[in-house]
Parts: sequence; structure tokens; C-alpha cells
Amino acid sequence: MSEKPNPCNLKLVMLFDPRDESYSICSHNLSAEDARQKLDELRDEGLFAVILDQPLHHAADNPDDCTACRAELAWLLAESAGDPQA
Ligand SMILES: [Zn+2]
Repeated sequence: MSEKPNPCNLKLVMLFDPRDESYSICSHNLSAEDARQKLDELRDEGLFAVILDQPLHHAADNPDDCTACRAELAWLLAESAGDPQA
């Protein structure tokens, strides 16, 4: 695969664990189609996942080591913490 993905169309898939209300990054640098497939797979396993827009290509291969993903996660948590209904 020599083709670079279009940065404007990248998605990341985030997992939500309702037991401890934690989020984790499942996958990143996905095309919209790949993200949808991933979401379907996760939902088949009974997991709750969401697709987020990813504004930039992430340099890290592994989402676990990805600082950009962590920044997205921090942003999401800050958003939900700021919601009085959450
Ligand atoms: Zn990432």
C-alpha cells in the first residue's frame, strides 16, 4: 500500500466500557468504510463503540502508543465532564 490516506477522511474508533464508564481507542487511521466495518464487528461482540472524525493522520502505528489518540480521548473526557447531565 503506497497510497497515503486522505487526511480529511480519516476516522478513529473508540470503545466505551459502561461498567467503569471508561473510553479507550480501539483503532485509528481508518477510512470511513473501515471504521464502519470495525464498528459493526464490535457491536456484534456486544461492545459499545463510536466513530470519531480524525482531523489528522496519526504517526503512531499502535493506537495504544498514540499521543494523538490520547489527546482525542482527553478532549472527549473534558467534554463529557463539562456536561452536567453526564
Ligand atoms: Zn491515533
